[in-house]
Amino acid sequence: MISKDDAMFDVVALGEFLVDLAPLGNSSRGLVQFEANPGGAPANVVSCLSKLGKKTAFIGKVGSDMFGIMLKKALERQGICSRGLIADPGLNTTVAFVHLDEDGERSFSFYRKGCADIALHPDEIDKSLLNTRIFHLGSLSLTDDPVRSATLFALEKLADSATLISYDPNLRLELWESPKEARRRILEPMHRVDILKVSVEELEFITGTSDLASGANRLARDYEIAMVFVTMGAKGCYYRVGEHSGHVPAFDVQAVDATGAGDAFLGGILYHILEGLALAKPVCKNEIEKSIRFANAVGALVTTKLGAFWSMPGHEEIGQLMGNQVRG
Ligand code: ADP
Repeated sequence: MISKDDAMFDVVALGEFLVDLAPLGNSSRGLVQFEANPGGAPANVVSCLSKLGKKTAFIGKVGSDMFGIMLKKALERQGICSRGLIADPGLNTTVAFVHLDEDGERSFSFYRKGCADIALHPDEIDKSLLNTRIFHLGSLSLTDDPVRSATLFALEKLADSATLISYDPNLRLELWESPKEARRRILEPMHRVDILKVSVEELEFITGTSDLASGANRLARDYEIAMVFVTMGAKGCYYRVGEHSGHVPAFDVQAVDATGAGDAFLGGILYHILEGLALAKPVCKNEIEKSIRFANAVGALVTTKLGAFWSMPGHEEIGQLMGNQVRG
């Protein structure tokens, strides 16, 4: 499955790239301070893969304001091809404020109306970036037009290619008109998907059941999805890959910020697919679970640091954690 085409990317992600403003304690005057981190799930996924040595690119839109400049530089510094990132002088870069609770679980307040990430137009997609082994998308680029049309356009362009489609619905109900509209739009790309990552809440939202086995089976059957991963934070991951299914426990780490754990997990999964390990040809359950264990380690390590984009672990760190015991 690994092609020799030098112009080909390993993974290209399309979607939101924004600034996460994460709380960083109080100033000496007692006022809350924020740290500006690059954010957005699809960008985190390619950040992870780039850190693991894969050839990646990002497609999206920012403003040509200070945050937009910061984000473009972040892609470049992380070794992600940035030529698909459009900087629009007429728009503000999208911003999200992060709230962290005591367990490191986060929620977001988005400042997104009229901002850049939703303004990507189908004509602005550099087609040379669709020459990729894996194309990754989320559902935030399906909430508004024209970025929704741009996302569907990219999928249409890839329809007859061998490119694998990776999808993380990443449900953020506050960004949709209604739950019904969210579900309808989130399901739109599903028939094209080869690799799906959902949380238990997303599984229930999409399939109507929180039963892991029947929900994952339903997704695999109804949409012919080869690889379904249901991630459960510190409880690890339930999977259905081909005919195999099961649970792989998480690593025991001291989590400080869960932002981007799912993106890192997916980065780990895509890495193993690109390496031709187990998941691409799911014949052996043991090998599948080894790949998921790797992804669980990548996800766990991201939770031990603040932020996500800059917190992606390298091979050495992953290897060290995998040398330790897993949770039973
Ligand atoms: P998302 O960010 O999409 O909600 P999860 O929080 O389920 O995704 O995390 C994805 C994966 O990262 C989990 O399946 C697990 O392997 C790992 N992970 C997340 N949180 C923790 C944690 N607190 N301890 C250990 N591993 C974790």
